[in-house]
Amino acid sequence: MDHFLYKDGVLHAEDVPVAEIAAAVGTPFYVYSTATLERHFRLFDEALAGMDHLVCYAMKAASNVAILKTLARLGAGMDVVSGGEYMRAKAAGVPGERIVFSGVGKTRDEMRLALTGGIRQFNVESEPEMEVLSAVAVELGVVAPITVRVNPDVDAKTHAKIATGKSENKFGIPIARAREVYQLAADLPGLEAIGIDVHIGSQLTELEPFRLAYQKVAELTETLRADGHDIRRLDLGGGLGIPYTRGNEAPPLPTEYGALVRETLGHLGCEIEIEPGRLIAGNAGLMVSEVIYVKSGEGRDFLILDGAMNDLIRPAMYDAWHDIVPVIEPEAGAEQQPYDIVGPVCESGDTFAKQRMMPRLSAGDLVAFRSAGAYGAVMSSEYNTRPLIPEVLVNGHDFAVIRARPTFDEMINRDTIPEWL
Ligand SMILES: *Cc1c(COP(=O)(O)O)cnc(C)c1O
Repeated sequence: MDHFLYKDGVLHAEDVPVAEIAAAVGTPFYVYSTATLERHFRLFDEALAGMDHLVCYAMKAASNVAILKTLARLGAGMDVVSGGEYMRAKAAGVPGERIVFSGVGKTRDEMRLALTGGIRQFNVESEPEMEVLSAVAVELGVVAPITVRVNPDVDAKTHAKIATGKSENKFGIPIARAREVYQLAADLPGLEAIGIDVHIGSQLTELEPFRLAYQKVAELTETLRADGHDIRRLDLGGGLGIPYTRGNEAPPLPTEYGALVRETLGHLGCEIEIEPGRLIAGNAGLMVSEVIYVKSGEGRDFLILDGAMNDLIRPAMYDAWHDIVPVIEPEAGAEQQPYDIVGPVCESGDTFAKQRMMPRLSAGDLVAFRSAGAYGAVMSSEYNTRPLIPEVLVNGHDFAVIRARPTFDEMINRDTIPEWL
């Protein structure tokens, strides 16, 4: 559920007409709904009620500091995957004890940053990483709390580029080797293993892969405890999918997910952490774009938009589907026609949708890409020297630009010219 609805024939973000934002900031832009972000965070928080838990928002999904602040004030923790994300979490006022550091390639500098600034735990992914982290912690005179990310070898049944829990993926250590790896952690002076971490992929639309993974984590918890390790925290990763098309798709609800967590892991008395990203931010954001031209090709019509693959790369990268809707509500029963919906970038991959049925549109009309809040703005680039598009946050009747569109000068002046030129 989200807060982007037609009211009086115009698409609104909460109580603000989307066309009003377009007039104020220009197109294309991203717009996020505070009420939707808050609702999705609370769904997870409530789904785990009764268990000692922390919902750590996977901020790589949408990392604007204003979004982080919106969630942090509800008590969210943050899951970060880089030093830059760690600094963003800090800038949003999130205390170190609510920040979890994930990722397969943490550098010494990133470890130092987190160990000095405060960290809840590192989710480590390999033995070489453990040895480096231990050495960095010893240098600083501290002990780093860790979980080891185990790879349970389950099929998340999602797009290959976002599946992470199969043995052929680069993530985690094979669960069969967990006992020796925890032994290594116990032997390293700078580490304290406090729990287990697992994250099997993104955009999961069934609970079964989670069940298989969490059952393996439950077994491993008992095995490691029998080996003498004090396993008291389980980080279960993120990955719950969202409906990208209205209607037929119905991924499991956070309440069902919460019930599964209770059923598979509740008896262990561990503190539970989860790291949802997409389900918190995905349906909380739109990308809004204007039709530049309607071009008639051989047997097909193209809608050429001012938004492009550099602004929203998911269709090009993951063959992702986004519902694309006109900002002015079509009349009931309005005639539809198929369009190829494309951006202006010089690549055929700059195609958002092929033969998409849409009401008839003209140059100057606005369209909104739904479910664009996660892995949208954060994955954008300045390819073709197109400025990063603005981000806007709506809260009831209010809206504010939370990242402004850079000027051409700002973009170009980041380049510096060597003295010999
Ligand atoms: C990407 C990622 C997440 C979030 O995944 P979503 O599908 O956005 O919920 C959580 N944890 C880790 C370790 C990740 O890499």
